[in-house]
Amino acid sequence: MRFSENFIQEVVDRTDIEELIGRYVELKRSGANLLGRCPFHSEKTPSFSVSPTKKMFFCFGCHAGGSVITFVQKAENLDFPDAVEYLANRAGLPLPKESEQLMGNTGVSRKRVFEMNLEAAKFFRACLFDERLGAAGMQYLHGERGLSVATIKHFGLGFAPDSFNALTDHMHRMGYRDEELIAACLCGKSQKTGRAYDYFRNRVIFPIIDPSGNVVAFGGRVMDDSKPKYLNSSDTPAFKKSKQLFALNFAKNCCAEKMILCEGYMDVIALHAAGFEYAVATLGTAITPEHARIFSKYTQKVIISYDADDAGQNAANKAMRILGEVGMDVRVLKLNGAKDPDEYIKRFGADRFRQVLEQSKTGFDHKSERILAKYDLTVGSDRIKASNEICALIAEYWSGVEREVYLAQSSPALGLPVEVLKNTVEQIRKKQTRAYEAKQSREAQASVKNFGDRINPDAAKDPRAAAAEETVLGLLLIFEEYRNAVERGEIALAEEDFVTDFNRRVFAAIMRMHRSEGGLRPELLGMEFSPDEMGRIEKNEIARQQLSNNGPEVLRSAVNVLKDAKQKGNAGETSLDERIAYLRQKQAKLHKGKADKT
Ligand SMILES: [Zn+2]
Repeated sequence: MRFSENFIQEVVDRTDIEELIGRYVELKRSGANLLGRCPFHSEKTPSFSVSPTKKMFFCFGCHAGGSVITFVQKAENLDFPDAVEYLANRAGLPLPKESEQLMGNTGVSRKRVFEMNLEAAKFFRACLFDERLGAAGMQYLHGERGLSVATIKHFGLGFAPDSFNALTDHMHRMGYRDEELIAACLCGKSQKTGRAYDYFRNRVIFPIIDPSGNVVAFGGRVMDDSKPKYLNSSDTPAFKKSKQLFALNFAKNCCAEKMILCEGYMDVIALHAAGFEYAVATLGTAITPEHARIFSKYTQKVIISYDADDAGQNAANKAMRILGEVGMDVRVLKLNGAKDPDEYIKRFGADRFRQVLEQSKTGFDHKSERILAKYDLTVGSDRIKASNEICALIAEYWSGVEREVYLAQSSPALGLPVEVLKNTVEQIRKKQTRAYEAKQSREAQASVKNFGDRINPDAAKDPRAAAAEETVLGLLLIFEEYRNAVERGEIALAEEDFVTDFNRRVFAAIMRMHRSEGGLRPELLGMEFSPDEMGRIEKNEIARQQLSNNGPEVLRSAVNVLKDAKQKGNAGETSLDERIAYLRQKQAKLHKGKADKT
């Protein structure tokens, strides 16, 4: 974990849950709570509840729930530490110094990793410029790919010699230990000896530098056709591929109103060398929503310049969608006569490239042109197919204005009246909405039943015990006195009394936190439980809160059920009859719950 518990607590304290969630959902006051339509599933009547006092949320429809951190994790698709960072930035809370942030459980700080990476980058560069060691690398970069020495130096390119210990020995001499080198992914760990060995061998090296100037990782490329063509540092807590863009450290300084998104390091380097210093690439992965958010920080317009082959074009379509979702103006570059930007510039020069760049097409134009090119529009059956595909494409746009514009544009090309096309588009949209709502409600229902319970799969083995566990956990979450009673042994309850693995983990976490200095803080549970699991934990608590009888006898009887289950126990699983009876009971409750709400 990068952040201390105290820091996380402060972030939560400084976050106004009503204001945060209110930006996604329209909330109305309902007693002590706020109520709105759930942002995580589609619904007509509000069942999404926010408690400003507890700073927790819960959806009675899909059972999403948890703290403000869980909310950001789900809404922004972030992991726990990133969600904390997001909220800290929002609250204007300075992040702990990088040197104080740790890399997972390795005990190695991020600052130390960056120092090691910098040292390694220097080593790789020295190797490349060493006449004997780096000849093969220089031959490839300078001789074969035509990069100037100035460009090679600008990007800090390097060479990893064909050796298992060249870098490792160097780093040892600089005072770094095996464990640190392995934690930083500079070295692999030998299965046999447990010792470190060079991770990158016989490859040209591209250092990945973040916008703050830290060397966060490396990419290594082979110089022939062997596989894998590219090898990247693995993800570590200090480095996530899905959040880095190659050459963003340069591109961000361009202040260009646009950026070019390429497929590979070599494309980016060729573009920068030709004067297009606003080109970036992902690190051998498809573009993610996190990348899209990074783009939106630095620019408004992204021009996608992927390879001309089918794989490249499919990737471009996906990138268009992801970038479009964060509101970017997305364009696609069509390069005729070359497979990638590097080749295009070599063949036709930078000026021609600048021209095509200016003529880059919007996502819709690009896709509709591809559809129209497939068909012979003078043939009736082809024209129908083309119309259907174009209508399906237009139906994907959420904005009515965009749909109108594209309908008007497509009508003459297809030789069909706008109204006819519009009807088709609206039919497609209705069908999609129905399918989407049906799927959402199926998923919401499925999570209520034990069969197919992804969060607590063990529950189906002994539903009665699992329900008792949920009662116990709900009560322990709400009432400190019960936690004290368990802690003092007045209520005999231990981890081994739990039948299901998930509930046992929740119990262990609650009691561990209860004993800790800060006491039980539900938002910190998010450190070890996923957003879906947080929803279940919150559900247990809400379920107990709504009942009037939460007395100690309820807790004791639930504990007794667990003791029974353990004794029987081990006697095997519950009978099928018992399971069916239990499910019927649950379903009846579910229907009742629905009836209450309407
Ligand atoms: Zn929901």
